[in-house]
Amino acid sequence: MSEIIIAAQALTEDGWRNNVAITIEGGRVEAIEPSDAPPTVDILLPAPGNLHSHAFQRAMAGLTEQQTGNDNFWSWRALMYRFLEALTPDDVEVIASGLMMEMLEAGYAALGEFHYLHNAPGGTPYDNPAELAARIAAAAGTTGMGLTLLPVLYMQGGLDGRALEGGQRRFASTEDSFAALMEGAAQAIAGLPDDTRLGVAPHSLRAVPADAIARVAARPGPKHIHVAEQTAEVEEVLAHTGARPMAHLASLVDLSPEWTLIHCTHGTAAELGEAARAGAVAGLCPITESNLGDGIIEMAAVQEAGGRFGIGSDSNVRISLAEELRTLDYSQRLARRARNPLAGPGQSSGRTLYQGACLGAAQALARGAGTIAPGNLADLVALDGAAPSLAGLTGDRVLDAHIFAGDDGAVRDVWSAGRHVVRGGRHVARDRIAPAFMATLRRLRTVA
Ligand code: ZN
Repeated sequence: MSEIIIAAQALTEDGWRNNVAITIEGGRVEAIEPSDAPPTVDILLPAPGNLHSHAFQRAMAGLTEQQTGNDNFWSWRALMYRFLEALTPDDVEVIASGLMMEMLEAGYAALGEFHYLHNAPGGTPYDNPAELAARIAAAAGTTGMGLTLLPVLYMQGGLDGRALEGGQRRFASTEDSFAALMEGAAQAIAGLPDDTRLGVAPHSLRAVPADAIARVAARPGPKHIHVAEQTAEVEEVLAHTGARPMAHLASLVDLSPEWTLIHCTHGTAAELGEAARAGAVAGLCPITESNLGDGIIEMAAVQEAGGRFGIGSDSNVRISLAEELRTLDYSQRLARRARNPLAGPGQSSGRTLYQGACLGAAQALARGAGTIAPGNLADLVALDGAAPSLAGLTGDRVLDAHIFAGDDGAVRDVWSAGRHVVRGGRHVARDRIAPAFMATLRRLRTVA
């Protein structure tokens, strides 16, 4: 299946080019050539992946915004556990389909799903240990989302080895049951397009014993872990191991370009620099980290070490790529009391943020993507040059305005590995996906 896009402006691996024809063949960019044909799109960009999500949490968005006394991450988690008791496999698939539709409409071409809901309520395994992983895979098939599935190993309630309780039992695996889950997950994605990837995710230093982290890290493919998100977590790891979380992780596994460290909010400058030099991606979730009150990462340490970063939507409280990037930049401005802190001298913040997120997510999700270049997956997004925020702009100013002055409403078309699934700002299957999504949200919100 081939398609030719004629772009008035395109951000290619060689920078901005005007009036180019981009040929897509077999899901990849085949050629980029000058063209004098009338443009079919105004502004063509690489579409980044969203490197971190827990799909089912989309249904909880906005439900945890009341002050409950000592309100923090842990009170949020209490609501999540109540909510979990009500979720069926059908719910998981419907929510994931609705969420992926929203992500594609926001300009993401791929998703790293950090999938940790494995068991039935109460913790009983399903007959198929990969039942819920298969539901995530089915949602990717329904929506055309490029999927990197990251089944999560979650074994204990804390570093003292205490058992999982309540809603956490739906996450539980042993190393043996996890091996069966991985086999089932591989089968579940076998029917999906060949840009689909399978990785692995030890949940956190709290939830997986040290020796099991080392063993699961020996599996092939991308490896993701939550690390140093909360100060309470830093204290718990320090108390039990004598090391801070990122240093402890680095003592257990070889950090490499296959690793993505989700959050790493409370990494020290030295720890962040070491992980960046090892090639690991900093997996930032700016809206969720703001919503949970986590803290602000020291991005200067990542950048000075030449590190990569990418964006994830984590709790999925908002699905907005532009807002994620803006929130990241604004947190750094507030922390440093400076404007444009991530851009180098003479560079654009928008370009720095957008291009960085494309490259970091491509690495984190093991997708040959991140730039518009021959041979890369055709993960592409077209913006409407007539959107009020973008009218009259060219080059990097388009990215500055898209992120700081506009929103995802300028997204017109999205291709995931050449699958043209958003047209005219709407997902091609929205009329089929949205009604079930809305019905499920309404029903679940009565229990929360
Ligand atoms: Zn997460």
